[in-house]
Amino acid sequence: MITNDAKHRILAAVDARFDDQLAATAELVNSPSRREHEEPAQDLIESHLQSLGLDIDRWAIDSPELKAHPGFGPSTVDYTGMTNIVGTYQPAQDLGKSLILNGHIDVVPQGPEDKWSRSPWDAEVADGWMYGRGAGDMKAGLIANLFAFDAIRHAGFDLTGRVHLQSVVEEECTGNGSLAALLRGYTADAVIISEPEEDALVRANVGVLWFTVRVSGNPTHPREMANGFNAIDAAFEVMQALRVLEQTWNDRKGEHPYFEDLDHPINFNFGEIRGGDWPSSVPAWCELQVRVATYPGTNADDAWAEVEKCVTDAGASSHPTFETVLTPNGFYADGYVLEPGSDAEALLEQTHRDAFDAELTSFTTPGYLDGRVFVNYGQMPTLVYGPVSENIHGFDERVSIDSVRKCTKSMALFIAEWCGIDES
Ligand SMILES: [Zn+2]
Repeated sequence: MITNDAKHRILAAVDARFDDQLAATAELVNSPSRREHEEPAQDLIESHLQSLGLDIDRWAIDSPELKAHPGFGPSTVDYTGMTNIVGTYQPAQDLGKSLILNGHIDVVPQGPEDKWSRSPWDAEVADGWMYGRGAGDMKAGLIANLFAFDAIRHAGFDLTGRVHLQSVVEEECTGNGSLAALLRGYTADAVIISEPEEDALVRANVGVLWFTVRVSGNPTHPREMANGFNAIDAAFEVMQALRVLEQTWNDRKGEHPYFEDLDHPINFNFGEIRGGDWPSSVPAWCELQVRVATYPGTNADDAWAEVEKCVTDAGASSHPTFETVLTPNGFYADGYVLEPGSDAEALLEQTHRDAFDAELTSFTTPGYLDGRVFVNYGQMPTLVYGPVSENIHGFDERVSIDSVRKCTKSMALFIAEWCGIDES
């Protein structure tokens, strides 16, 4: 246990550096690190890790080993030059427990910017919030990892356990960034992922599959429409069939611990639709981009088989020439449960109380998290825990500045207790 004096010094160090922390967060939000555009933002992270005096490992994530892994999400983009970064702190004498602090650098598309009340890339601060795409999900958390770690040194202590600060790509589409970090050999006694989680701890979350459904039609002139087959109408039938499957899976929520109390834990999303060539031809093709969720314990292969049967049957019942092809094109990930009772969770309960003057709560989230990589394939207790946000993936995304400050304090105390400290 660290002393009360040490605790106060660490909390004061977070406060003393908080303006710098916000400035670093804003600078990172200013870099629009959408998929395949992450490298300038990773450069910023690398310079921060260098100034912390860490050993830097930056590598392109592509590898045969990654592609062969059962948790790999088939990617539709080229990984050449797409890098992960890990900064490692190795104490002179390794006496404490080790820790990974993980965050993702990638952000989702901003959508139509005229629907934002401000630029998604200005990181404007107003009324206690920082705005911008990625402000909440999860640049505030990623920078909080760095400043929580650095608060120990600023408070006059050296850590006595190994720490890896990770900035990974591909969290929003495949999960391959964190998987690549695991395959690179990074393991620890615990992991914190500072995603925007409402000052709470994630107990369980869903698995996710991404895929394309391509529906083929038979193009004719509309004057003889009955002789053709409309791929867009047919795609609508596929969507309806998938909605029925979604309801079937939601009806099974009672069989899945931590999901029974959620209204609608399983969400299928039709994220993109394209089809046809112009108004006066019966459309020859239609493509849907779909995201489906699965319960933890449901193998991705089994879920895939059920989805494929649903789509194929939808076609067969509607038209003999109905042809659909399903192709995985992103997440192919199982969900996970953080089993209660770990030392890491017990410690977070304590440091959360110190920082927030409130009890830590846990909850189930119906979204994908990289926690599944560390839990399912690394058997590491993984605490997904981070600040209050609003409208992530939407317009006017924002993160609560007060919450970022308190989460940083909670994490700094966690790092000190978990890894151990010495007066420097
Ligand atoms: Zn995120």
